[in-house]
Amino acid sequence: MADRLESLKTDLRAAVGAANVFDGGETLEALSKDFYWYSPVLRRQLDGKRADVVVRPGSIDELKAAAAACYRAKVPLVPRGAGTGNYGQCVPLYGGVVVDMARMDRILSLDGGVARVQAGARLGTIEAEARKLGWELRCMPSTWVKSTMGGFLCGGSGGIGSITWGGINAPGNVKSLTMMTCEGEPRLVRLEEAQSLKALHTYGTTGIMVEVEMRLAPKVDYEQLILSSPDWDRLLDWTDAASRRGDWRKRLVTQFEWPIPSYFKPLARYLRPGDAVTFLLVDRSQADEVVANASAAGIECAHRMPLADPPRPPFISDYTWNHTTLWAIKMDPSITYVQSGFGRNFREQFAEIRRRFPGEVLFHLEWTAGNAKMMRGNAVANNPDEVVVGGIPLVFFRSEERLAELIAFCEEIGVFIANPHTFFLEDGGRHPNIADKRAFKSEVDPGSLLNPGKMRTYPVNPFAAEHAAP
Ligand SMILES: Cc1cc2nc3c(=O)[nH]c(=O)nc-3n(C[C@H](O)[C@H](O)[C@H](O)COP(=O)(O)OP(=O)(O)OC[C@H]3O[C@@H](n4cnc5c(N)ncnc54)[C@H](O)[C@@H]3O)c2cc1C
Repeated sequence: MADRLESLKTDLRAAVGAANVFDGGETLEALSKDFYWYSPVLRRQLDGKRADVVVRPGSIDELKAAAAACYRAKVPLVPRGAGTGNYGQCVPLYGGVVVDMARMDRILSLDGGVARVQAGARLGTIEAEARKLGWELRCMPSTWVKSTMGGFLCGGSGGIGSITWGGINAPGNVKSLTMMTCEGEPRLVRLEEAQSLKALHTYGTTGIMVEVEMRLAPKVDYEQLILSSPDWDRLLDWTDAASRRGDWRKRLVTQFEWPIPSYFKPLARYLRPGDAVTFLLVDRSQADEVVANASAAGIECAHRMPLADPPRPPFISDYTWNHTTLWAIKMDPSITYVQSGFGRNFREQFAEIRRRFPGEVLFHLEWTAGNAKMMRGNAVANNPDEVVVGGIPLVFFRSEERLAELIAFCEEIGVFIANPHTFFLEDGGRHPNIADKRAFKSEVDPGSLLNPGKMRTYPVNPFAAEHAAP
């Protein structure tokens, strides 16, 4: 590949301008990485992997010229947003070209409750602009300030807002996607509504996302609440019931067991040692009622503050979803995590995990809307059976074997695990439509150049010594 790379660099400079091509130094190093280092397994597998070149196109035409040049040179191409993914999704396994979407970041329109944006637009910017017009994002990751729309849809799943609106793949959230193919004459392919599912959460293997239409929600003014109790079960019962209250407008329902709150240093003055805590984002006009309801159940409101509009820190969401793991790793580098979805018998599942792995797992729970509700297009959580208890429990890492044992045990007792210790997309989540994704990839990526090695079941990988089994 080395010989092909030199002439490719010349073509790339012609395509996007020399100032937007990086083939060495700190920029190349930094833009070859994401947050894969959360996982001791991925650290072993991915440390040292890097791109040969980074390009930063500023328009569809520049991107087209760059993709066509990669196709001619038969060099891998890996799209990149803000690089906040956790599974090495945008780390190139075989070198080649990283396409940084940072310059394709325009908000094209926010009319009629739909955000039409270029894929490199930051969610934080979209949220701030949408709020000015009376709208807000339906769901966003806790990295929303920095991460991009394309990166969220290709690498993420859900987060803040998912208690009401579900995740990225809930029907209706994505209105359309426009994907660029990687071939001699790159084309634009538009996917609408349910069609878009075949390009969601595919790690940049099924085309380069260039434009997105995402439906918005009417804006709500939120209060940020921290509720506290020394009694984990009492707080769990209350929080679970609160998550199912269809009449309370919510954007976040999170619960942590002690000592997780002790990792949140900036919040130390609000947190009582030994207490479990629940973090809520609720409609400000309902906050007094929520606090009174908690108080009647013997649960104290440890802190409350309005969420500023336009958005401005402090954000309690900075401690939730996978930010929790970040705070924990900062305090104790031996901590890692799993991503889980519990059943209706979640209380028994917690007990079984505690019994089998005593002192090794700390519970961090996140409540989300189940897909059944979204299928009916009703965004209000009014059916108790349709809210799902999930979360990102922390794990004290002992060995890769012990981690695999924990994951196998969880699956045995019916806990769904989206394994964050693998870079294969099939092993990191649910892909009931993987056959559609493979078929779409073969249509848009005839040279099998897009992020090769990440779709484990794709039968062609020109860069692997052995091809993956279908
Ligand atoms: C502290 C922390 C908290 C997090 N919390 C959450 C959370 O709450 N919810 C959640 O879902 N995730 C979470 N994540 C993961 C990640 O931050 C999000 O998924 C985020 O939206 C990724 O966006 P990005 O722009 O950084 O994407 P990147 O990391 O740059 O890319 C992600 C994947 O998408 C591909 N990609 C990027 N842009 C394009 C494009 N235009 N076309 C095709 N493919 C593309 C990349 O190749 C890569 O495979 C968290 C991560 C961290 C480190």
